[in-house]
Amino acid sequence: MRTDQAIVAALKSNGDYPAVLPRLLALADVEGIIRPGESVLIKPNLHTVADWRTSSVVNLALVAALIDWCRAQGAGEILVADGPFYGLAQPERIFTETGMAQAVEGKGARWAVMNRGGWRTFRDASPDLPPTIRLSELVFTHDRLISVTLAKTHIDCLATLGMKNLKGCLHPEDKRAFHQEVDLNRALVALNRLIRPDLTIVDGTLGMEGMGPHAGTVAHWGYIFAGREAAAVDAVVAPGMGMEVEEVRTLRYAVEAGMVDPTGIEVRGEKPSAFRRRFERPYEAMLRRLPGVRLSMQGACSACKLYLIRALCEEASAGVLPPDRCLVIGKTVAEDEDALVLGKCAGATNPGRPHLPGCPPRLDRLKAYLKEQGPARPDSRAPCTGAI
Ligand code: SF4
Repeated sequence: MRTDQAIVAALKSNGDYPAVLPRLLALADVEGIIRPGESVLIKPNLHTVADWRTSSVVNLALVAALIDWCRAQGAGEILVADGPFYGLAQPERIFTETGMAQAVEGKGARWAVMNRGGWRTFRDASPDLPPTIRLSELVFTHDRLISVTLAKTHIDCLATLGMKNLKGCLHPEDKRAFHQEVDLNRALVALNRLIRPDLTIVDGTLGMEGMGPHAGTVAHWGYIFAGREAAAVDAVVAPGMGMEVEEVRTLRYAVEAGMVDPTGIEVRGEKPSAFRRRFERPYEAMLRRLPGVRLSMQGACSACKLYLIRALCEEASAGVLPPDRCLVIGKTVAEDEDALVLGKCAGATNPGRPHLPGCPPRLDRLKAYLKEQGPARPDSRAPCTGAI
């Protein structure tokens, strides 16, 4: 064994986290990272109001078992905190309406939304970041940081794993800037230089495939992963999901930046050949579930994509065909004369065209607007600019 190898532990998981987690973390060689009395910030992926059974957010029982593990390690104060996606009103709902508040309080720990904890400003921290970003002060006022997330596909990054989980620590306005002002994947790499968790856990007991990170389907994978280095954990999990490291741009840039050497990782527990399972890619799912739909989404942030794709999928499930027109969100100049322009950004990029306002446009208004523009017309099926 090389002494400079990163260690990533992988185990089968049936969701019995009180039994699996201590074994996983012993294999990952992270016992001892918390010294007696140290404060711990647990950052779960809890970006929206959703039931954990949908695989959109992290499993409540995993966070509860993690609190127990931290306490067994001698932790003092334990705080569980995250921030929702840009545009969610009443951000506390990600705790109170998901059951996470109850799960955390049941273990005698505290919870908070990062939106309320104050911000630390970084100026010109990296050419890959917006000139100014604000990160939750909570990240810097605790002795240890543990990042815990799920294995999901992502319409921008292909996969959202440990490195991407840290985006939840950004000020809401800066989350939007990550999608619009910079290359999202390069910005995530730079963010992972500013925030270095002591431990990263990626849960694939129930993962998400297809149109992740919000509108995908549950992938019953049954494995869980952990390690000290987020990039190393991701470099094991992504190939496990059937993705090459070069395909996942966040990982590719992390390799180029020298943050991880995929050939220098010691995988403990299960062998990679045992846990390899191909996750359906977002665009594959989109084409299957939304035949004929044409989207142009360059420069759009997750909120617009989430609402538009959800609206299309929910309408398709109800038997309503999408309009046979290019649907434009974000910063693309619509070339088709009859393209449908949706949201504030697309409206500003395409002045003079009618557009549906909103930032993002509300789900119910999107559905109504799309319905107004239907039914599908069979005479125009050419792909539109920037379409996926
Ligand atoms: S209009 Fe859409 S893409 Fe633009 S900032 Fe709002 S949510 Fe993001």
